[in-house]
Amino acid sequence: MTKRFSFSLNATDGKARTGVISTPRGDIRTPAFMPVGTAATVKAMMPESVAATGADILLGNTYHLMLRPTAERIDRLGGLHKFMNWDKPILTDSGGFQVMSLADLRKMTEKGVTFKSHIDGSRHELTPERSMDIQKLLGSDIVMCFDECPALPADRKRIAQSMELSMRWAQRSRDAFGDRPGHALFGIQQGGLEEDLRAQSAEALKAVEFDGYAVGGLAVGEGQEAMFGVLDFAPDQLPVDKPRYLMGVGKPDDIVGAVKRGIDMMDCVLPSRSGRTGQLFTRRGVVNIKNARHADDPRPLDAQCTCPTCANYTRAYLHHVFRAHEMISGMLLTWHNLHYFQEIMQGMRDAIAAARFAAWETEFHETRALGDIDPTC
Ligand SMILES: [Zn+2]
Repeated sequence: MTKRFSFSLNATDGKARTGVISTPRGDIRTPAFMPVGTAATVKAMMPESVAATGADILLGNTYHLMLRPTAERIDRLGGLHKFMNWDKPILTDSGGFQVMSLADLRKMTEKGVTFKSHIDGSRHELTPERSMDIQKLLGSDIVMCFDECPALPADRKRIAQSMELSMRWAQRSRDAFGDRPGHALFGIQQGGLEEDLRAQSAEALKAVEFDGYAVGGLAVGEGQEAMFGVLDFAPDQLPVDKPRYLMGVGKPDDIVGAVKRGIDMMDCVLPSRSGRTGQLFTRRGVVNIKNARHADDPRPLDAQCTCPTCANYTRAYLHHVFRAHEMISGMLLTWHNLHYFQEIMQGMRDAIAAARFAAWETEFHETRALGDIDPTC
């Protein structure tokens, strides 16, 4: 019998929660950070290396995969897990957000969105039904509803209309998804920064019933203060016994602040993208490896970090391969960043379980405030 999708909450500390999402492809410890595997790869990382950083799940992008190599081709080749050699859970987004941010000549109607591919100009349509179809062809374990995410700032009328459209699309997504044991469908709360619209959205989603609930429409340029303002009430509007997913977040302090406010899952391109641009996240804040101060530094990036980059390579080497545009640079820097993000998650899971989240958070901020270690000379 197929194992069903389930979520169990093991401990709470304030609003912070830790638990386990069980899927037929394995357990996801929460709070969880999902690396982004946009085009069936977490850039510069082998899948086994992504797993070694401590990731239980990764995210795939429907928009990118439907255009290239296409969902139908991935299905013929055995599904996304087999195609990219990742056998743990995969969450796919609905494609809606990226159509809005990447595609050309978009036209939106009640039915869905038509657009031109940013790759070759070919014409496509995404609707709630087509998005469910694509995510099924990919074999995604956690499927996201098709929604519209308006850019902020936007006026209240526009936010309300968009939220109401997304709620109609949520019902159509639910209907199209059907009954698929072992697979989950998450609804997405919208409503911008408005508490009452967020509440309306949450009620509409709860009436449809989903396996998990995302807080959508944030991390779109509103800033951390406004985002935390919404997170002060939005998670409380969602069911206690289902996973809560904050989409597209974020920097380490965004992640900690979100977990503190009751979020269980997050994803972001930041650790992998920054790894390719020389920006490293460490316990003591951000380090730019391209800076000349690292050129003669024989020390590791972080002597306490247990990732292969910090265990085996000097700052001088990382600086050199970055400046020389060597491929290993992206590999080593991405590995460290993903490892560090997973270390934060593990630290928070342990702290919540031990009812010492506040102390953990204080230490997290104090260590960051120290800044990077002094230069060698
Ligand atoms: Zn490291």
